[in-house]
Amino acid sequence: MTTLDETHDPSLQSWVQSANAADGDFPIQNLPFGVFRRKRGGEAFRIGVAIGDRVLDLAAVAKTRGAIGAAVAAALGDVEASTLNGLMARGPATWSALRLELSRALRSGADAQGDLTACLYEQSDIEHALPARIGDYTDFYASVYHATNIGKLFRPDAPLMPNYKWIPIGYHGRSSTIGVSGERFHRPVGQTLPPGASVPAFGPSKRLDYEFEVGIFIGTGNDGPIPIASADEHVFGLCLLNDWSARDIQAWEYQPLGPFLAKNFASTISPWIVTMDALAPFRTAWTRPADDPQPLPYLDAPTVWSEGAFDVQLEASLSTSKSDAANQPAMPLTRTSFRHSYWTVGQMVAHHTVNGCRLMPGDLFGSGTASGPTATEAGALIELVEGGKKPFTLINGETRTFLEDGDTVVFRAWCEGTGTRAGVRRIGFGECRGTILPAR
Ligand code: MN
Repeated sequence: MTTLDETHDPSLQSWVQSANAADGDFPIQNLPFGVFRRKRGGEAFRIGVAIGDRVLDLAAVAKTRGAIGAAVAAALGDVEASTLNGLMARGPATWSALRLELSRALRSGADAQGDLTACLYEQSDIEHALPARIGDYTDFYASVYHATNIGKLFRPDAPLMPNYKWIPIGYHGRSSTIGVSGERFHRPVGQTLPPGASVPAFGPSKRLDYEFEVGIFIGTGNDGPIPIASADEHVFGLCLLNDWSARDIQAWEYQPLGPFLAKNFASTISPWIVTMDALAPFRTAWTRPADDPQPLPYLDAPTVWSEGAFDVQLEASLSTSKSDAANQPAMPLTRTSFRHSYWTVGQMVAHHTVNGCRLMPGDLFGSGTASGPTATEAGALIELVEGGKKPFTLINGETRTFLEDGDTVVFRAWCEGTGTRAGVRRIGFGECRGTILPAR
């Protein structure tokens, strides 16, 4: 059961003034973890925590003499670590204890301010590496709206396979080409079957797309099935994931074994992992229509229904070479919420391990394209343009069917303290950004 504690108190303010801005992503109630170094050359990557427009260097904090230094050193173990895998392996009690110590040390009036001021850098002065060494990457398919929209395009006669409402569908992806926000990659080249042709063509993908997904970082691993009731305890936190997809390569290659080269040329994640503790106030009821199959017992628990969903607002936008040249901001594409997911994060963890499969600290799941129920909530271009039949016009007058060279896709996400959560402090995920270069 999720519990709130003093770290969630909406009235908490930080002595880092920028953290107190009402519309900021990184107030003291968030405290997401990432890996960074200063842009000036030669430094090693190390673990940091975002606070306002700063990053708190935990390797430096661990060397300070105060109580917070000892607490950080104890939680991290290896304070020079360049990935979060060690902290992830230590489990939820350690994560929560570290969060509490950081919250207390960063609060207005904290004694630690004197020691910690020297451990802060401006986020504009840092660069990120992947937050963890990702051993394995699994991509799910948890939005029934995306599965139905895509299914209609690929298999008009049977859009939703009969297993969809029983199994959290997924496939094993590759971790070696996952990059961090800001990456630029070349348009993939491969085999496609042009419309009406009987032999494939070879060349750059003409139907390059994004997929707006939530990334799920596994914390502690397992030896044997993870029961649904404790599945969330194995999750370190969430980030944003762009599962770039070449739809023309995908359509030709995906049967009978599923996605392969259409997906593994690039996947981009946001640098900060927002912890399950930080997300606790934004959990919400999960629902399943009464006339749909109900979850089998190994995917069912009272907390699945009471708090299985996460109300995370997801917003995709696009910059083009033209809008960049004109110094225009990214142009909005779509907006939805992760709460519409047909399967919960915990169900994905329980299902993945029910056969004995081992998860390791730092493993990454993708939620699958997080499309919502209406047409404007699509998490991928292929849904927005109805398979390519309906190009759309950007606010600067350009049109798009699929992505063009020079395009930059930007995802942002946040949790709002509005409606039934009035008064809860807003937290954000930062951004996940990637740019397409011409094919090699
Ligand atoms: Mn995907």
